[in-house]
Amino acid sequence: MFAYHLNQTFSCYLQAIQLNSPWLNVQGEVVLVDSSRIKQLAPGIIYYQPSRLCEHNDSAVILSCGLHGDETAPIEILSLFLRELVSAKIKCIRPCVIIFANILAIQRGVRFIETNLNRLFALDNREHTYQTSFESVGNYETKRANLIKQQIEFLLKDKNSLIHLDLHASIQRSRYPLFAVMPYIEKTKARPEPSVANVISSVSLKVDAIIYSSQASNTFSYYTANKYAANAATVEVGSIRKFGENDDKLRNKLINHLQKLVVCRASRLSSDIIYSANYFKTSDVVVKDFNDFQFVLAKPIENFTAIKKGQVFAFDQVKQYIASQDGFICFANEEVEVGERALVIFEKMDFM
Ligand SMILES: [Zn+2]
Repeated sequence: MFAYHLNQTFSCYLQAIQLNSPWLNVQGEVVLVDSSRIKQLAPGIIYYQPSRLCEHNDSAVILSCGLHGDETAPIEILSLFLRELVSAKIKCIRPCVIIFANILAIQRGVRFIETNLNRLFALDNREHTYQTSFESVGNYETKRANLIKQQIEFLLKDKNSLIHLDLHASIQRSRYPLFAVMPYIEKTKARPEPSVANVISSVSLKVDAIIYSSQASNTFSYYTANKYAANAATVEVGSIRKFGENDDKLRNKLINHLQKLVVCRASRLSSDIIYSANYFKTSDVVVKDFNDFQFVLAKPIENFTAIKKGQVFAFDQVKQYIASQDGFICFANEEVEVGERALVIFEKMDFM
């Protein structure tokens, strides 16, 4: 009976979250016919363990969604993916962690409850006053970030190759609907910046654009990339819509890709997990200093909107914000808290 209910929960995880099923709080596992196991370690944190005979136990895949509770497409994607796993339609050949990060925010259909969960993944050795002040409050997002960090530490410390895809959906519509943000890699870390010249492997995901971050950001993918040398990326899958209204094509493309990724027989997972014809890098990050910060561009401001050198794009009580070079605006959001990022400006990278 226990296994039956847990199996049902894994088959419809999104519904289990929405209905606040008591089974979300049960630690337990379902054993599949090939003796692989799917374990619920904590609410929203699920671990697929292949059979002991599997020769790919030294590598792992982390798939996460719902860092922001209103980004529905990724939550639907990983809920369907989990259903396929538990029904053994996908035969995953390596350990896989599936994370539905901000359960309470998903239930309430909001971005977060008290603070942005995807800003709480600072590396241990990094002083981060913003995080520390919230940590002392002990709010919901801080607890979730700590729980997720604890669980993956335990599962991943002995892995020699790791892929992490953190799935999101953009607040704004985007000129490139499917794009990835590659986290900044600290200089002290052994892993080199991924090269665009790499040979594309069969499990690489083709996206419409790739952005290379040029500074630490305390996002979940930044954390796994730097702490575990994961090949990590934040992947933006379309823009925010209600559950059931997401783009089927985009969703199916992602699910197909994830299926290929978890059955890939390569002994080491390739570093070129994502590729594109369009590459960008950060040229400027604009932080909101005052409550009256406002954009002067026509709204909504789509991701990858072009701006010209000398163009005024925002103002507040102290100054006007003027582009210092030609570029492209992303993640424009004047509603963020003071001290948080209000937009990022990118420049196109040319490899020809
Ligand atoms: Zn997000």
